[in-house]
Amino acid sequence: MATTSFDKKALERDARVDGHFDALVIGAGFSGLYQLYCLRDRLGLSVKVLEVADGVGGTWYWNRYPGARCDSESHSYCYTFSEELSREWEWSERYPGPPEILRYLNHVADRFDLKRDIQFNSHVKSAHYDETANLWRVATNAGEQMTAQFLITAVGCLSSANIPNIRGLDTFEGRWYHTGQWPHEGVDFSGKRVGQIGTGSTGIQAAPVIAETAAHLTVFQRTANYSVPARNGPLTPAFQRYVKENTAEIRNVTRASVNGHPWLIEDRSALETPPAERQALYEKAWEIGGLRFRAMFSDLLVDKKANDTAAEFIRNKIREIVKDPATAAKLADIDHPYAAKRPPIDTDYFETFNRDNVTLVDIRATPIERITPRGIRTSDAEYPLDIIVFATGFDGMTGSLLRMDIRGRGGLSLAKAWAAGPRNYLGLQVAGFPNLFMVTGPGSPSVLCNMPVAIEQHVEWITDCIAHMRQHGLKRIEPNDEAMDSWVEQVNAAANATLLPDAKHSWYLGANIPGKPRVFMPYAGGMAHYRKICADVAARDYEGFKLST
Ligand code: NAP
Repeated sequence: MATTSFDKKALERDARVDGHFDALVIGAGFSGLYQLYCLRDRLGLSVKVLEVADGVGGTWYWNRYPGARCDSESHSYCYTFSEELSREWEWSERYPGPPEILRYLNHVADRFDLKRDIQFNSHVKSAHYDETANLWRVATNAGEQMTAQFLITAVGCLSSANIPNIRGLDTFEGRWYHTGQWPHEGVDFSGKRVGQIGTGSTGIQAAPVIAETAAHLTVFQRTANYSVPARNGPLTPAFQRYVKENTAEIRNVTRASVNGHPWLIEDRSALETPPAERQALYEKAWEIGGLRFRAMFSDLLVDKKANDTAAEFIRNKIREIVKDPATAAKLADIDHPYAAKRPPIDTDYFETFNRDNVTLVDIRATPIERITPRGIRTSDAEYPLDIIVFATGFDGMTGSLLRMDIRGRGGLSLAKAWAAGPRNYLGLQVAGFPNLFMVTGPGSPSVLCNMPVAIEQHVEWITDCIAHMRQHGLKRIEPNDEAMDSWVEQVNAAANATLLPDAKHSWYLGANIPGKPRVFMPYAGGMAHYRKICADVAARDYEGFKLST
C-alpha cells in the first residue's frame, strides 16, 4: 500500500489515543525502556512506547520456559546509566532467570516513572512514512493510529518464534509449546511423555529441568552442540560488595571488551601455549564456567586449528560425562567450530542423558517424517508423546522487524528493501526510511555482545543524533547508498575474518528459516571497535548520513 495523503487533524480526531508524538518507540524491553528515558527525560521529547505484551520485559516477558536463564553474568546484565540505580539494585545469582530480570526491569520502569508513557497490549501492525508531512504513521492491530517524527524499533533480535512447518502438527492430540511463547502459568510435565525438538541455547537449558518432572523426555537433536557448565549459584556478599565498589571499573571493562562482558579476551594463543598448560587452562575455565571459557585464548575464533583445541576439549568432556558411549558419540558429533554458533552454557545438560527417563534421538540420521496424533514419527520409529516442546529458535534479527508492515519513501516496504538481506548503515538506519532508527538491528554487534552494553550504546547514539538534529533545525536523517554499501562490506569482512560463517546452519546467517537470504547479520568486528566507528561517524558530522531541514 502506498502512503496516502496525510490529514493530521482527521487522524487525531479519529485516534483513540493522543495522536502525535515526537517519537514512537516499539517495544518495552531493555532497549525501549532506556530509549524512552533518554528521549523523554534527557531531551524533553513527547514519546510513546507501544508494547504488544501487558508488561515490560521484552524477551524476558516471553521466554519463561523451564530453565530459562541469562548467559551474561548478572552484574553486567544491567543498565549503567544511573549510579543510583546501580547502587540500589542487588542481583541474587550469577545468572538471573526471568523472574529476577523482570523484577529489575519493572523496578527501572517504576523508578523512572516510565510506565505512564508505555501503551501495553498494543501490537504494531504497520508503520508508513509520510514524505509530505515527514512523519511516521503507525497503526496498531486495535485500529489505533499515531504519528511521530521519529520511529525507533526496540523489538529485540530474538522475538519472532520459529515454529517449524512439520507435517501433521495440526493433528497432534497432545499439547505443544514454543519456548519463546511460554504460558505464564507454566506447564506441568509430571507423568507426561515429552518430546523436545531443538538443542540450541534454549533446548540445552530446558532439557535438564523438564527431565526432572517428566515421565520421559525424548530430545530430538538435529545438530549436536557444544556447551560449557554455567556454574550458576547465589552471589556471595563479598562479590556483591565487590560489584558495588567497582561499578565504574566493571562498566569500563564491558565497554572496552569485544563482547561486552566484564572481562577481556586473554592475550595468549591456544596454538602457541604448550599442550599441558593449555589443557590446564581449559580445565580451569571449565571449572569457572560460563562464557569466559571462550575468552581463554585470543585465537579461538580466528584460527581453526586453535579452535579445534577447545572443540576437542569439550568433546572429551562430553565423552567423560555421558555414560552410554553411543549417546555420547551423538552428542559429541558436532559439525561446526566452537562458538561459531552462539555458545550455550548449561546446568547439567550432558548429565541429563545419564537419566533413565531421557532418550536422545539423532534426527539427522533418522529425520522426523511427520507429527502424528500420538507423537513424532521419524524415519525409523514412532515416539508416543503427550507434550511437544519446540526449542527451535527464532527468525532472528530481521523477523520482528519484517513482520510489521514498515514502508518508507514511495511506499517501499522494508521487506522489499531487504529482499537480498538486511542492507543498512551501522545497523542503525536504512536509506529510504528517514528518521527510522533500529536499536540493535542487523548489522550491529547486538547478539554477539552482552545485550545491555550494545543497547546502551545504540540508544545513546540515537539520542545524541536526535539532539543534534534539534539543535541544528534538521528534520530528516537517513543514510546514503554508498555508506550502506560500504557498511555491508565491512559487516561481511568482519564476519569473514572469523570462523563464525563456518557454522552453516546458524541463525546468525538466517539459515534456520526456509527462504531467508543467507547473509551474516550481526557485526562481528567487536563492540568496542563498533562503538568507536559510531562515535567517529557522529564526530565527522554524521558522515554517511543525509541530514536535511
Ligand atoms: P537456536 O539456537 O536457533 O536453536 C534451535 C534449535 O532447534 C537447533 O538445535 C536447531 O537445529 C533446532 N531446529 C530448528 N528447526 C528445526 C527443525 N525444523 N527440525 C529439527 N530441529 C530444528 O535457538 P535457541 O536455542 O532458542 O537460541 C536462540 C538464541 O537465543 C541463542 O543463540 C541465544 O542468542 C539466545 N538465547 C540466549 C539464552 C541465554 O541468554 N541464556 C538462552 C536461550 C537463548 P539446527 O542447529 O540443526 O538448525
